[in-house]
Amino acid sequence: MSVSFEPDHAASWYAATANPAPERSALEDEVSCDVCVVGAGFTGISAALHLAECGFSVVVLEAVKVGYGASGRNGGQIVNSYSRDLDVIEEKYGAETARALGDMAFEGNRIIRERVAKYAIDCDLRNGNLFAACNQKQLEGLREHQALWERYGYRELELLEGEAVTREVNSRRYTGGLVDHGGGHLHPLNLVLGQAAAVESLGGRIFEYSPVTGVTHGEPAVVHTAKGRVRAERVVMAGNAYLKGVLPEIEGKSMPCGTQIITTEPLGEERARALIPNGLAVEDCNYLLDYYRLTRDNRLLYGGGVNYGGSDPTDITAVIRPKMLTTFPELDDVKVDYAWSGTFLMTLNRLPQFGVVNGNVYYAQGYSGHGVTCTHLAGRLIAEVMTGREERFDAFAGLPQLPFPGGRLLRVPLSAIGAWYYQTRDKLGV
Ligand SMILES: Cc1cc2nc3c(=O)[nH]c(=O)nc-3n(C[C@H](O)[C@H](O)[C@H](O)COP(=O)(O)OP(=O)(O)OC[C@H]3O[C@@H](n4cnc5c(N)ncnc54)[C@H](O)[C@@H]3O)c2cc1C
Repeated sequence: MSVSFEPDHAASWYAATANPAPERSALEDEVSCDVCVVGAGFTGISAALHLAECGFSVVVLEAVKVGYGASGRNGGQIVNSYSRDLDVIEEKYGAETARALGDMAFEGNRIIRERVAKYAIDCDLRNGNLFAACNQKQLEGLREHQALWERYGYRELELLEGEAVTREVNSRRYTGGLVDHGGGHLHPLNLVLGQAAAVESLGGRIFEYSPVTGVTHGEPAVVHTAKGRVRAERVVMAGNAYLKGVLPEIEGKSMPCGTQIITTEPLGEERARALIPNGLAVEDCNYLLDYYRLTRDNRLLYGGGVNYGGSDPTDITAVIRPKMLTTFPELDDVKVDYAWSGTFLMTLNRLPQFGVVNGNVYYAQGYSGHGVTCTHLAGRLIAEVMTGREERFDAFAGLPQLPFPGGRLLRVPLSAIGAWYYQTRDKLGV
């Protein structure tokens, strides 16, 4: 399933409340640079910013606009660590790999906060997120999760059992929850726009409406768009789920997945606070999870569902609103003002894929649903590897990158069957 480019941002609450950004032109001639970055989401812009700070000349090519992809339209939840937890990494890939990844599991979050402070980015950054358990088994899982992260030195977690969880989220759905006081949420489009401005302030160049059509490998590599090309010593591929037909070496071993978000009309402070009293971001522990939070103007921004292959439902509100009403039945009279869809990239082991093709084309992708923090780490590690410090990048690059069973044709139905199985287990609480 391919992802096609629309002419502008998705019609999201984020696009409606984006900070002003300059009109950026398309690439129409030939330019040269040290590093050409393909894709202006968190991965690409984070890499470009770290590289520009290290003194590299950087050109970013974006198919549509900065933040057009998942980065400008996600739940905005700052979730620490990775989509696959550290105990599974220990079990599958050994203690040394788990330690290396564990040492970096909270760094992406720190990078975001450093960026926001250093470049004074106005993106509604708020502290705290909650993992909500829908049954006793999930609550036990959260207890283990707390012990696990504490083993990796992270001590910001607070377990809430039974009724105590209603202190943070006023819903009958949950048997408990785990607060991460060090997590949080933000306006993701404004975060990426702010970092793009920082790239430009350091001399980096960003071209919009410049979809890359191919790369001629070599030293330098040549990156082609419809009307221009970039000669670059190195290339960073950061197109994630939206990349199609540019670098086959990295496109076959992952699966684009769609997920949808709705945003209500403003609820007013009192009604909003009655739902989530301390304003945490919330995600439940189901295999196909719901995730939600309040916006700065007291709307409820509610996401959920996964479409394997990245295809969108025709009526997003009809799919997501019932989920929201299961959590908060009292919102039955509330209007939905925005509904949109986005695509993230799933990998078979739920761990990101980092690597290098032909010696100078680097990539980082496949954060499998939790990418806000890890994309920011990826940008730093790409800059590190380009300045001769390979070790931390290689800790990720050494992870297996396996294709989905069934290949391009059958990976979608096979994954849907797997998801149905886990969803049924969640419903039964087993
Ligand atoms: C609806 C939704 C909700 C989510 N919620 C959360 C959340 O709350 N917390 C969390 O941690 N994660 C969340 N995620 C995941 C997270 O958003 C992603 O993992 C992350 O944004 C990926 O960033 P990226 O820069 O790698 O990719 P993207 O942000 O998708 O950026 C890729 C960019 O590359 C461009 N591009 C692609 N191909 C080309 C080409 N050929 N030429 C030029 N440009 C190209 C695209 O236009 C796009 O702008 C969510 C994802 C979605 C879709």
